[in-house]
Amino acid sequence: MIPEPVSNSVKILLSDYCKKNVNILNASPIGGGSINNAMKMETSAGNFFLKWNDAKRFPGMFEAETKGLALLKSAKAIPVPDVIGIEEGEKFSFIVLEFIEPGKRQKKFWQSFGTSLARLHQNTSDSFGLDHDNYIGSLKQSNAQKKSWAEFFISERLEKQIELARNSGALNSSTVQGFNSLCKQLSEIIPAEPPALLHGDLWNGNFMTGADGSAWLIDPAVYYGHREMDLAMTKLFGGFSNEFYDTYAETFSLQKGFDERVDIHNLYPLLVHVNLFGGGYLQEVKNILRKIGRAHV
Ligand code: ADP
Repeated sequence: MIPEPVSNSVKILLSDYCKKNVNILNASPIGGGSINNAMKMETSAGNFFLKWNDAKRFPGMFEAETKGLALLKSAKAIPVPDVIGIEEGEKFSFIVLEFIEPGKRQKKFWQSFGTSLARLHQNTSDSFGLDHDNYIGSLKQSNAQKKSWAEFFISERLEKQIELARNSGALNSSTVQGFNSLCKQLSEIIPAEPPALLHGDLWNGNFMTGADGSAWLIDPAVYYGHREMDLAMTKLFGGFSNEFYDTYAETFSLQKGFDERVDIHNLYPLLVHVNLFGGGYLQEVKNILRKIGRAHV
């Protein structure tokens, strides 16, 4: 059930947007998300997607999602849903999006997805980061801009998550030493690249197949970063076909040694998972540090 204050405001928003009176005829819950309540709304003006949450839980989350989707859309490389509107009320906040009607994957789904992602990554900026902060999952993601990737990755990605994990007692000092040792050499390990517009949280659950049979991106955590971050993230939980990587590289070739760097890039999403879910993810972090010769752990 959509809480009444949310459905009342959604009706007003949709009526404004469609320039006619819109009624919600049916609403069915959608699973798969980890943070917000999500619904498919069938209305007198067609289908829409709604996500809502308590207003105080994640301030600015839907505003950041709106900006992120707008930035991805402006790159014209890969489809994303239109934002119909957001509201941050007293009790609830919500976002209404174009509903992505599910479709059957087109024949060259993965090839076309690989090419589109490469085109997205060809959008660049003067610095790494973004002009605003956003969220990664339900954690705040700081995007303070930096001139070099190593500087950005260390101060805005690794250190922020390490601090959270230290404060919660999840990370001990020997693991932190492992990170310190890695950070000292990061600028030599990761080859320089111009900042690339990233989805920022590109796992299997954050794309959908639209009615056109192509991949649509949802739930972004955008910033300008090293493009290997998005590619590495696709490998963290798997589910992307080899053709995806092949056509990506044909469109925007990768620097030598990408495969060996995947684990290092994924230390960031893994630390995020440690902070969100704890448990087994810490072991994965330690395994990577050990594997790449940061033998303090
Ligand atoms: P959360 O912010 O809670 O992580 P998501 O944005 O991942 O939520 O959305 C939850 C689920 O809803 C997704 O896994 C996907 O199946 C579905 N979904 C997301 N956006 C749309 C959309 N615009 N149209 C249709 N379904 C969507």
